Amino acid sequence: DKINIAIDGPAGAGKSTIARKVAGKLSYIYVDTGAMYRAATWYCLKFGIEPEKEEDVLQMVSDLVIELIPGANGQRVLVNGHEVTEAIRSLAVNAKVSRYAQIEGLRTKLVSIQQQMALRKGVVMDGRDIGTMVLPDAEVKVFMTATVEERALRRYKEMKEQGEISLEQLMRDIAERDRQDEQREISPLRKADDATLLDTTDMTIDEVVEAIVSLCRT
Ligand code: C5P
Repeated sequence: DKINIAIDGPAGAGKSTIARKVAGKLSYIYVDTGAMYRAATWYCLKFGIEPEKEEDVLQMVSDLVIELIPGANGQRVLVNGHEVTEAIRSLAVNAKVSRYAQIEGLRTKLVSIQQQMALRKGVVMDGRDIGTMVLPDAEVKVFMTATVEERALRRYKEMKEQGEISLEQLMRDIAERDRQDEQREISPLRKADDATLLDTTDMTIDEVVEAIVSLCRT
């Protein structure tokens, strides 16, 4: 029988790469919840709606349609039909997404979409609050971490093609996002009591994937 798998952890821990591969191995559906918060952020920034104006943000996202489309080169993200796959990974979105993600009404909306996606099981979902809030009954829960240096280095290698970003800047960016995600009042980033802690600092991608797949067999 199919199960649901919740993968949480701080920025740059490799959750999306791992979650996608686990989903591939099990023929499950991968859901990247960070992409949903990023898409909402991109949309608000595009129309100049600052996160302090919560009412305006909620108004703005009331007709927001986010599509996550699995593809050969990873997942595509559409907002109201527009391709935003790359735009949602910009430094501008990185810098602001944690602020928008603190807006309760926005979280309520996205969490309920995420819960519906998992109703029929067979979902690998990654984020910050999946094991604690979105899918508290997920059969397998993993909390993935790695040192901030290692996480910045992984992002650096990923982004190098785009140029113009230093390792120091990435490290600051990640540390700041961790701080905001851990300290927010609503659904802060934390390990669910029943989640398995995986420190991936010295693990290869395949080792992490294998560790999670074997948790699913037990
Ligand atoms: O996973 P990713 O780094 O793309 O997520 C971007 C941001 O979205 C996080 O830093 C966090 O502020 C927010 N987020 C969240 N809850 C989730 C997933 C992401 O608050 N389930």
